[in-house]
Amino acid sequence: MSDSDLLIKGDLIKSRWRITHKIGGGGFGQIYQAYDKLRRELVAVKVESNSQVRQGIRMEVTVLRRIQNRKHVCELLSGGTSTLYNYMVITLLGSSLSELRRNLFEQCFTLSTTLRISLQILDAIESIHSIGFLHRDIKPSNFAIGKKNLRQIFILDFGLARKYTDYDQHVRPARIEAGFRGTIRYASINAHNNRELGRHDDLWSFFYMLIEFLIGCLPWSKIKDKESVGHIKETYDYNRFLTYLPEEFDKFLEHIKELHYEDKPDYEFLRSLFISSIQRLGYHDDDPYDWEKS
Ligand code: ADP
Repeated sequence: MSDSDLLIKGDLIKSRWRITHKIGGGGFGQIYQAYDKLRRELVAVKVESNSQVRQGIRMEVTVLRRIQNRKHVCELLSGGTSTLYNYMVITLLGSSLSELRRNLFEQCFTLSTTLRISLQILDAIESIHSIGFLHRDIKPSNFAIGKKNLRQIFILDFGLARKYTDYDQHVRPARIEAGFRGTIRYASINAHNNRELGRHDDLWSFFYMLIEFLIGCLPWSKIKDKESVGHIKETYDYNRFLTYLPEEFDKFLEHIKELHYEDKPDYEFLRSLFISSIQRLGYHDDDPYDWEKS
């Protein structure tokens, strides 16, 4: 047990979930596996100290409560606060898309897998937008496959989410300046420039994910400095990516380029682009995903 571990093996949460071991964390939250005595199955428990500056779990619980029963969202079994920590108990998931890609030969997904998981990722992003929230940290490690269903993708980590609509469902006025949120590699140019983020910024991060899935890296993958990465993103000719992508992606890029803060993305149009690529290239829904091949 390290100094900062908030839970240890054997700890019991609400007399129901018994901690078995730590499975991740170190960033802002810690993730543990636990045994659910009632359901007799394994679950995941995320905890954060309630004295740390960045409190993400309260936001995660808020978002997860509103978004339950969507296909690409894990189940929230419990969420709350104890004297030392905030916690939530959720479905235990399998590997993340970043782990799955890195385990593959040449660290790339095939076009067939990329296009088919893209439909699921787009649905997941649309689900969170549809309840009035932006995710603001779309990246491969925030998507994971199911533990039982290896073909279903789940969206994770709503700790940086933000409400973009007001009580009337109108888009809130943009702040002149907003602090940087997210992960440098996948952040949109707006995020680099500390602008208020909109729905299209989640889609820009998704676009960067797609390039990385297919090519295995991004032109700025090895650069850590936020300003330098922002500069490359602003000056890079994105059409160069398109040579690796089916022709439908021209239209994807064109669509996200023309969106502004208030605009609602045309999710249906973007979905139709993936579907038409899949059909044109002869891929099938029930083909194995790259991680299912031996
Ligand atoms: P943080 O807010 O610290 O970034 P995340 O929610 O992104 O925390 O989780 C960190 C890592 O823990 C994830 O990349 C994933 O590997 C693992 N993890 C998170 N949630 C689950 C879950 N429900 N089941 C299994 N592993 C999970």
